[in-house]
Amino acid sequence: MLTGYHIAVLGGDARQIEIIRKLNEWDATVYLAGFDQLNYSFTETVHFEMDEEIVQNLDAVLLPVSGTDDQGYIDGVFAKEKILIDADWLKRTPEHCRVFTGISNDYLNGICKEAGRELIPLMDRDDIAIYNSVPTVEGALMMVIQHTDFTIHASNIIILGLGRVGMTAARTFSAMGATIFVGVRKSADYARISEMGLSPFYLTELADHTGTCDVLINTIPVRVVTAEVIQQMPSHAFILDLASKPGGTDFRYAEKRGIKALLAPGLPGIVAPKSAGRILASVVLQLLLESKRKDDEQ
Ligand code: NAP
Repeated sequence: MLTGYHIAVLGGDARQIEIIRKLNEWDATVYLAGFDQLNYSFTETVHFEMDEEIVQNLDAVLLPVSGTDDQGYIDGVFAKEKILIDADWLKRTPEHCRVFTGISNDYLNGICKEAGRELIPLMDRDDIAIYNSVPTVEGALMMVIQHTDFTIHASNIIILGLGRVGMTAARTFSAMGATIFVGVRKSADYARISEMGLSPFYLTELADHTGTCDVLINTIPVRVVTAEVIQQMPSHAFILDLASKPGGTDFRYAEKRGIKALLAPGLPGIVAPKSAGRILASVVLQLLLESKRKDDEQ
């Protein structure tokens, strides 16, 4: 149990609601900031302002999946205004206080380092990224259906990258009856794609494969879908970029050529916030229980 453990949840979206529910079930003392517009209340939780003294008791701080922007502001769909977190605020927490975030950035790394607090970026974990790839790809399916006038079945789909999201996308779109081509840079991935019964190619040959492509799904967070690649695509093709901002597509050129290209961040939180929240909640809980065990031993 998390009895006696003090946790602040700062901002976020419907995924945080699942986490808060779990924390309450496990008897943690939960403080919320950035939830002032939530239309129902958790009776067991306490709403607080960032300048309150409660901060001195915190064992853990939970940030949203998006973490902070590069100036330290935290987004919250239930917040009246954005919350700011900085090194001075973190320094007021006890030394053992851990900071959990979905993804990190230079700002967050910097303030945690300056304050000497451990930062745990959850999306770096394989388990979360793999579970999370399921709602991501369900969202990708939804977007492909919405933005094309042909079936996925019997269409030619290129998937770039065979990481956690790429692998799930390749499997899912293949199961829908599409012909799947997967672009990678490693020979081991090339072999794996072949083993999966799909068609591999090396990224260096991407432009040679786009001439008959109906849908291109990018999961590589580097500019790989260049003007040269887009130039070869048929005009009805649809590019769905799942990679983190700013994506890997030359959107300017796609627009100039009249090819529909969309960057689609945060799909799990959009299409399945409850499932995505549960995925996060179960891992956060496990990590908090481990942290508490360590803290209790010291
Ligand atoms: P991942 O497991 O790290 O996979 C990334 C893939 O990109 C790998 O195949 C990797 O190949 C390839 N790659 C990376 N850098 C490359 C480069 N310079 N040249 C060629 N290939 C490169 O990541 P993931 O978990 O699948 O996530 C993929 C992206 O989707 C990330 O940007 C993530 O933030 C984002 N994401 C978006 C959503 C959404 O809702 N849109 C949801 C979840 C994740 P190697 O193995 O050869 O490095």
